[in-house]
Amino acid sequence: MFSYRHAFHAGNHADVLKHTTLIATLQYLTQKDAGLTLIDTHAGAGLYRLDSDFSETGGEARDGIFKLMTDQRPASPDASNKTARPSTERSDSAMKVDTSAIQDYLDLITGFNPDGRLRVYPGSPFVMHSLLRTEARDKLKLFELHPTDSKVLAANVAQLEAGRQIAVARQDGFEGLKAFLPPPNRRALVLIDPSYELKSDYAQVSACIQDCLKRFATGTYMVWYPVIPRPEAHDLPRRLKTLANQAKRPWLHATLAIGADETPPAALAVPGEPRRHGLRASGVFLINPPHTLKAALEPALATMLKALGRGPGKGTSLETGG
Ligand code: SAM
Repeated sequence: MFSYRHAFHAGNHADVLKHTTLIATLQYLTQKDAGLTLIDTHAGAGLYRLDSDFSETGGEARDGIFKLMTDQRPASPDASNKTARPSTERSDSAMKVDTSAIQDYLDLITGFNPDGRLRVYPGSPFVMHSLLRTEARDKLKLFELHPTDSKVLAANVAQLEAGRQIAVARQDGFEGLKAFLPPPNRRALVLIDPSYELKSDYAQVSACIQDCLKRFATGTYMVWYPVIPRPEAHDLPRRLKTLANQAKRPWLHATLAIGADETPPAALAVPGEPRRHGLRASGVFLINPPHTLKAALEPALATMLKALGRGPGKGTSLETGG
């Protein structure tokens, strides 16, 4: 427990999928005037340096946000020198229509890097905060259990001077979430994004979703999970589908696989670098997704695959039901 630090992984392909989906979902939900409760059960540290020792060690952002930025905004220098100079202009009108979810994601990341160099990556708390509306009295509840990351998160959030709009708790997010459902405004988006460091996380996610649907069936729930050869990981989306179908709620399931790294092994042998052969695929499962999400994700997934796909096993899937 607690060996996982998201700083090693910030901006990787899994974050690209997760945060693009999160932004598209929130953009839809914030179109209505009524206030929204946002809950992040596994918040992480909130903000990450892409030029820190952590991210240098894993270098996972190189196969994620850097590649995507370079592919979509070719004015950026290549990812190997860890800089990007994103243009704020979309390059043509077709791109505006077809890849707007990606462009919205890149615009948001660019907002954190105003000098055009990609140094800071916002985690889900800051992604959510970017879309929070003061006038609608949206609220953001953040849970983070890691002793260090919860302190870093609290310090990062304090800088926002958001007052009571954002609450940070060093508490188990699976448990803490219960107190907020149903929310007073009857509108909520819950992100459940554990590290799956513990095998029990998989069962906890399905138990949590089952409980959430009993407490508040119309909330929007988004679960991220790793696609890895482990029975629990394989079963999770199936269990979530069953739970959504039993509750008669619509769902959306999307995956992105970047495939095997075909770089010759010698080039990968970086001493002390733990995760070069790391995660190749992940998925997001949403219950009560926006009805617009499938159309938004279809071209976005194609763009992610084109930019991030590496080798054998690469691909995407997108399925809805309910
Ligand atoms: N949601 C973040 C984002 O997208 O930027 C990343 C979160 S990271 C994948 C998972 C986090 O959950 C880690 O920081 C870990 O310390 C924390 N964590 C693990 N178990 C937890 C629990 N039971 N409750 C709250 N946080 C937990």
